Amino acid sequence: MIPRTDDGRQTSAWQRELAEAVRDPVELLQLLGLPRELLAGAHAAHGQFPLRVPRSYVDRMGKGDPRDPLLCQVLPLGEELLAVAGFGDDPVGDLAAVAVPGLLHKYHGRALLVATGACAVHCRYCFRRHYPYSEGAATPQRLDDALAHLARDDSISEVILSGGDPLALTDERLALLAERLDAIAHLRRLRIHTRLPVVLPARVDDHLLNWLARTRLKRVVVIHANHPNEIDDSVRLALRRLAECGTTLLNQSVLLRGVNDDSEVLARLSEALFDAGVMPYYVHLLDKVRGAAHFEVDARSAQRIHESLWKRLPGYLVPRFVREEPGAPGKIPLSL
Ligand SMILES: *Cc1c(COP(=O)(O)O)cnc(C)c1O
Ligand code: SF4
Repeated sequence: MIPRTDDGRQTSAWQRELAEAVRDPVELLQLLGLPRELLAGAHAAHGQFPLRVPRSYVDRMGKGDPRDPLLCQVLPLGEELLAVAGFGDDPVGDLAAVAVPGLLHKYHGRALLVATGACAVHCRYCFRRHYPYSEGAATPQRLDDALAHLARDDSISEVILSGGDPLALTDERLALLAERLDAIAHLRRLRIHTRLPVVLPARVDDHLLNWLARTRLKRVVVIHANHPNEIDDSVRLALRRLAECGTTLLNQSVLLRGVNDDSEVLARLSEALFDAGVMPYYVHLLDKVRGAAHFEVDARSAQRIHESLWKRLPGYLVPRFVREEPGAPGKIPLSL
C-alpha cells in the first residue's frame, strides 16, 4: 500500500515522525537539559527560518552540552540576524540558473529538479534558507514543463532530485516521477540529494525501496552528514537497505565552524561513512548566505584541514573540498 497524507487514514511511520518533529526552541532546550537563556535574541531568527528537527535526531545530541555539534546545526541563534558584508540571499547564483521554474541547469549533462521546498530538518547554514521555494518548487504544471525540458535536451544524462529534500515527498509522487523519468530515453542516472536517511532514517522504508528498485536508471543517493555523531545504528540500517537495492551511496558535508572544522572529526566521519557503505564525496565550503556568517571557516583553515585529512586517510576516504561560484561550469576544487 502507498501511504496517504491527505485523508489522515494511512500514514507511514516516517510521516508521523515528521509531524512530531520538534518546532519549539524552548522544548528543544528542555529535552536537552539546557537553560532557556541560550535563546536570548533567537526569537527573530526562528521567525525567519523556523526550528525544525526530528526527535530521533535530537536523541543523538549530548545532554547538557550547548556546543553539541548536532544541536549547533539546528538551533536558531540571535547571531543569524547580524548583517555581514558579502553574505546575501542567493549566494550561488541559483536564480540565474533556472532553466524552467523548478529546474536548475548549471552544469553539463546534469540538471537539478527542485522537487519540493520542504525539509525534515532546518539546517541553520542552509544556502537555500531564503530561496523563494513557493515560486520555484515543482507544482504539477511546473513539473510538466521541467520534464518537457529534460526530454528536449538530450545532453542531459542525469537528473538530480533536490530541494528542499525530495524524500519529503510521498512515495506515491516519487514513484510517478521516477516512471516519467524512466520514459526519457537519454537519461541514464537518477541522483537524489537528501538528508532524510540521516535525520529521519525511518524514511527508508519498503515503499521507498519499492519504487527505487523498479527504475531502469542507475541510482545514486547523496546523503548529507556533517559529523560522525549523526551516524547511529538506525542510520546504518537505512543505508544498508538503500545499498541492497543497488544504490551507490555518497556523502556531502558542509564545513562548519564549531561543528566539523577539525580534521580529527572529519576523519572519523569518513571512517564511519565507509563502515556504513557510503563514500565521502564533497566537503562544501560554506555558501555565503545571509544568517550563516558565524559558521564560516576561512579558506586557509579549510586548506589546512584538507591537507591533514590527506595525510592521515587513504585517498578514497578524503572528500573533495569544493566551493561554488556563480557562473562556473562545476564546483571549484580547493587545491591542497
Ligand atoms: C552541485 C550541483 C550539481 C551537481 O554537481 P556535481 O559536481 O555533479 O555533484 C548539479 N546542479 C546544480 C545546480 C548544482 O548546484
Ligand atoms: S536538509 Fe538540505 S535543503 Fe534542507 S535545510 Fe538542511 S541543508 Fe537545507
